[in-house]
Amino acid sequence: MKHYGFVEKDVEPAAVFAHLKQFMVENGFQVNNESSRSNFWELHASKKNAIRVALGAVRDADAVVAGTRGKFEVQFKLGVWGKDLAIPVVEGVATLGAASAIDLHEEHLLEDKMWRSLVHSIDPKLQICGQCGVIFQSPADLQAHQKVEAQQLQSQMGMANPMMMGMLGMGMMGMGMMWI
Ligand SMILES: [Zn+2]
Repeated sequence: MKHYGFVEKDVEPAAVFAHLKQFMVENGFQVNNESSRSNFWELHASKKNAIRVALGAVRDADAVVAGTRGKFEVQFKLGVWGKDLAIPVVEGVATLGAASAIDLHEEHLLEDKMWRSLVHSIDPKLQICGQCGVIFQSPADLQAHQKVEAQQLQSQMGMANPMMMGMLGMGMMGMGMMWI
């Protein structure tokens, strides 16, 4: 899910909402439900095709824009089976199986693409992290963030290692017992 509050941008939130909607239609989504009241726009869309429906997979998209010119927030999410796409691909493989993980990955890329397009339509100078979609005002801020992110990823992988070693160890023990 992407969520960001824009300030001091000379853009109408209604125009941002229209942009999001257009992007969804261009990417094969059907708008199922759309509502707007004062300073609040919301839509739900879904993407269906024969193969996906046969597999029971329906892709959903939700978008909310709230606020006024110069100060508004945008929330945007693409989902597979209603799952949040923030799920890392590796975790997706473990819990959903490889085919679903590929779906998740595809949707994640599409979500990123749409988010990037939207953010840059509001302000082309904004910097977007390719990993998590968080927005930064300057390239220096983005670089500092990416450094922290890379370190976090390394420590996560470090934590996964003892488990892997444990599993390997057990497998070798089992083989050892067979040899005896
Ligand atoms: Zn990031």
